[in-house]
This record gives sequence, structure tokens and C-alpha cells, in this order.
Amino acid sequence: MGPTERALATKRDFLVPCVYHFYQRPPVLVRGAGAFLFDADGKRYLDCFAGVTVMNAGHSNPAIIEPVVEQLRALVHATSVYLTEPVLELAWAIAELAPPGLRRSFFCASGSEANEGAIMLAALATGRKEYVSLDGALHGRTKAAINANGLEMWRTDPFPLADFHRVPGPRHPDSLPGLERLLRRETVAAVLAEPVQGNGGIVVPPDGYWSELRRLCTKYGTLLIADEIQTAWNRTGRWFATTHWNVVPDIVTVAKALGNGFPIAAYLTTDTIAAKYTRPGAATFGGNLVSCRAALATLRFHQEHRLGERSARLGEHLRARLRAVQHRRGVIADVRGLGLMVAAELDAGPNSAALTDAVLEQMKDAGYLLGKCGPGRNVLAFLPPLVVEPNDLDRMIDDLDRTLASVA
Ligand code: PMP
Repeated sequence: MGPTERALATKRDFLVPCVYHFYQRPPVLVRGAGAFLFDADGKRYLDCFAGVTVMNAGHSNPAIIEPVVEQLRALVHATSVYLTEPVLELAWAIAELAPPGLRRSFFCASGSEANEGAIMLAALATGRKEYVSLDGALHGRTKAAINANGLEMWRTDPFPLADFHRVPGPRHPDSLPGLERLLRRETVAAVLAEPVQGNGGIVVPPDGYWSELRRLCTKYGTLLIADEIQTAWNRTGRWFATTHWNVVPDIVTVAKALGNGFPIAAYLTTDTIAAKYTRPGAATFGGNLVSCRAALATLRFHQEHRLGERSARLGEHLRARLRAVQHRRGVIADVRGLGLMVAAELDAGPNSAALTDAVLEQMKDAGYLLGKCGPGRNVLAFLPPLVVEPNDLDRMIDDLDRTLASVA
């Protein structure tokens, strides 16, 4: 039995079946370096998924690993009731980068937890108990977050909460009018939305969408929560994606790429909103020393290597190359994205999802790990580490072109 067969057999017997994986024969990853991953057989892959935008600063980055190892040797402790230097330094560093006014952080360990906290904070701050989110959204897998999910496959609560409402996604003409109808009741604590929907298919909102979201929330006394768990930390070419539209949300949630692989998440908010949360609320693993060291080193690396500019530039290059492939291979229905958050939607009628799986599998065999998203599971996602080299992206596109020719 090889590593893949062993992994599949163990998974079948010991994990909860909801745990899913891409590929019929998934690689068992054992090592990473920059934009590359290596499996147990020594095969090398260009990582075009980066763990859904986790590894923005690249795999096994020495500029991040070394301070983490130093911290591991000095002190590993996981309770935020002690005020340690890394967590305070990180709160300061984030406040300098955050949209204006959002200088208060609450640290926790995962994106779901950050959204769960933001949802509760909105209730504390407004005295209201209803929420609105968008079709196509993914906000996590804890109770409130699941109820805010707009993707059917992620709405797993058998007893959905009546206070969570949904309106059509950002590209639907009734999205904002539908939202206003709900907000008019003045019972909605918060609207939750991703600046660019990630798992929903890398959906970039139309121009003016976020300014209108902001205006409506302000008008009806509702808080605007931006779930930047995928989009923050230069994935879209900016520290925070809402700055593309000059919008300042009331609460921003972050996770994933902040720790470049180490578990850390947070919600960021204003002095006024934070002041409503005064009873004890510390998270055991929130702001732990190791993750905070990783996050500090990650932010420094982003700054020193200008990863925001790199993301914007490489994203544009990748979309241009994908559009050229689209002209040759009719099967690509749409190319879209912002920064290095890029999608190619495949259209083969009822076979679109199966075709996407076939492309993913062949590309994996050719040495590229792509992502897959969208409500119909027919959107190829390109989310490489931001340190990826342009010629590696070019090679990937050449192989994608060949793959599309052979599977179509
Ligand atoms: N929000 C968004 C936009 C996400 O993409 C995800 C994870 N894919 C989450 C929330 C949940 O994050 P976590 O898995 O860290 O709980």
C-alpha cells in the first residue's frame, strides 16, 4: 500500500465523513518550499491553492519559521490572560494597517470563531438579534456562522436559526433592494459579507456595491461586518479588500494568511463598538505566543517584499493569460478576480462539475494543485502563494491549455 492508499483507508475508518478532500488519488503532502509542495513520493507540485489563501508568504519561509522556532524554544503558553509581548505588538501592528478607526483586536484561533465573535459583538453593540448574509457566502462551521452561510453545501444545521436571513448574492439585481427591505425593519444587528466571495466562486461585486452596502447599514443602524478571512493580507492586492472601494466596515474578521499556516484569527473593530464588550471573553488559544510571532514575522515579510503590489501585478498577468486560453478553448465561460484571487469558470452544461474534477485531477498529475469553488463546483480557483514566480504561473497556464484541449 502506498502513502495515498494508506491515507484514504485511515480517513475512511477514523475521520468524520464530512471531512472531504480533492482528487480521487490525493497526494500526501510532506514538505513545502516557497510556492512548491512535495508529496511522500517526492513529486513536486506548484501550489495554486495555498490552502485557500493561507500560505500567502510561501511555504517554509525562513523569515517566518526562524522567529517561530526561537519562540518555541523560549516559551509556549496558550492563555491570553497573561499580557505577553507578541500579542500586544501584533495588536499594534494590525491597528497600523487596518482601515481607519478599526484599532481594537480580539484574537482567537479560527475564522469561524472570529465570525462567531463578531456576530455576538454586533448583538451587544446594537441590542438587536437578526442578521443578514448573502447567497454564495461561506462564513464557517460553528452554529451562527453555519446559519450565515449562503452556500447550500455548507448549510448543515438541521435546525436553522430564524434570526438569520439571506438575500441574493452581490451580482444579482435584487441583492441590495432585498437587503434594504430587511434593514427597514430596524431589527437587524449586522450584515455579514465577503468583499470577494471565495468559496462561492470568487465573485467580485459590481462597482458601487460595497459603498451602497455601507450607506444602507449606516442609514438603518445596522453594523457592517466584512469577512476578510480569505481576502485580507494582500490576497486581492491590498492589506484589506474593502479599501478597493474606500469602505470602512464596523467589524472586520481575519484569519488564514495572517499566521501563514499558524492558527490565528481576529475580529477588528472600533473603540465605540469594542466598549460594549466588557465581560470576560478571552480565548485560550487566542493570541498565543507562537502564532503571534508567526503573524508578526508574516506582516513584516509582506511589507519588506511588497507582496500587495506583487499580488496585484501577478493577478492581472494571470487573468490576461487565462483570457487568451478562454479564446482558444470555449469551455472557459468566465475569467475573473481581484489581485491573486483568480477564477476560471468552466461551462460544459450538466457536465461542468465532472469536467472541473477531471481538469483538477490531470493538472495534479502534471504537477499543479488548483482549487475548486462555486455553488456548482465548476469554478477553477487560482490562489498561489504571493511569492510565486511569473514563469511558474506561465508554465501552469501552458499545461492548463493542454489539459483543457485533452479533456474537452
Ligand atoms: N470565512 C471565509 C470567507 C472562509 O473562506 C472560511 C474558510 N474557508 C471561513 C470563514 C472559516 O474559517 P475557518 O475554517 O478558519 O474556521
